[in-house]
Amino acid sequence: MYRPLISGIRKSGSGFSHSRFFLAALFLLSLLVLCLGGCQRKPSAASAQISDVGFFFDTVVELRLNGTDKQDLIDECFRKMGDYEAILSRTREGSDVWKINQSAGEPVEVSDDTAALIELAQKYYELSDGAFDITVAPYVTIWDFPNNTGNVPAKASIAAARIHVGSSLLHLDGNTVTLDDPRSSIDLGGIAKGYVADRLKEFLVGKGVESGYINLGGNMLTIGTKPGDVPWNIGIRRPFGEASDTITTVKVDGLSVVTSGTYERCFEKDGTIYHHILDPASGYPVWNGLSSVTILSESSVDGDALSTSCFVLGLDRGMELVESLDGVEALFITDDEELHYSTGFPRDTDSATSPSSF
Ligand code: ADP
Ligand code: MG
Repeated sequence: MYRPLISGIRKSGSGFSHSRFFLAALFLLSLLVLCLGGCQRKPSAASAQISDVGFFFDTVVELRLNGTDKQDLIDECFRKMGDYEAILSRTREGSDVWKINQSAGEPVEVSDDTAALIELAQKYYELSDGAFDITVAPYVTIWDFPNNTGNVPAKASIAAARIHVGSSLLHLDGNTVTLDDPRSSIDLGGIAKGYVADRLKEFLVGKGVESGYINLGGNMLTIGTKPGDVPWNIGIRRPFGEASDTITTVKVDGLSVVTSGTYERCFEKDGTIYHHILDPASGYPVWNGLSSVTILSESSVDGDALSTSCFVLGLDRGMELVESLDGVEALFITDDEELHYSTGFPRDTDSATSPSSF
């Protein structure tokens, strides 16, 4: 069960403080959805618009629905997010992921959703040649990015974790999950939000929603267009810029726009940025000259897994992977703010905010 908190914020059972809320709200503001037209109009039945904000998956989430005033649809989405978090969270005691990580090598029965997600994660492990690997969890635990403000772990502890990392240690047979190594563990942080966004969109479309978006902490999944057949105009944040500073924008109609960036969960120590996208081979943050990777795709789980995968693969190999896939486009932004687009990416040629893009 959830309770509305101040200003319509809903919270899940995971750790939450007011300062984190304000930080998160600031972050949400940076996800600039430019509501051209429509926003100022007085609502009528057909032009009704409802939205709400909550806190799940350790991030701020936002839902907007156009053409309906059914608040119960939004309430149901928040309830579903709570249910997904309860099975997919690594830190929530009793979740499927928690059970897998406590299994000490024994097989564990998981829900259909967890099994589906692990199967997809394994697919992306293969597709990315090991760059996307949910068994990075031992490193994730050591680095503890959401809470770490500047503590670089000892080399020896990273090295000790390394032998327990590798998705070849993870097996899925129907709904049964086995980790060969009792000290291995999994973390679905690089893929779960995309999966949940897809399920929420399915639910909403099934209820007749034709326009809106699901924003799970920057994983943006649009439904149709804005009223009047106007595409959504999604801002892509300037890495390390002010919260509202967009480097460019992209117009989409029903697509997912997901970004993985170094600036999202990081700290700086002695001039080095330590961030949350980890190289499975080393256990250290990926330092390859990239600041962010944005993926456009139909399904948000693909976008989520690919944004992390491509970040780890780097500009050349990541771009090669994107170009080999149908229906997927990417924007890679380097540390010096160069913008590299895949061939079919709908570039924003009007934007004065992207002087370095051509
Ligand atoms: P965000 O959580 O900000 O949306 P990502 O989708 O890029 O960012 O996922 C990063 C998260 O995925 C990390 O916080 C960690 O939980 C997990 N992760 C880190 N490195 C990898 C990796 N190489 N493969 C799979 N998951 C990873
Ligand atoms: Mg991801």
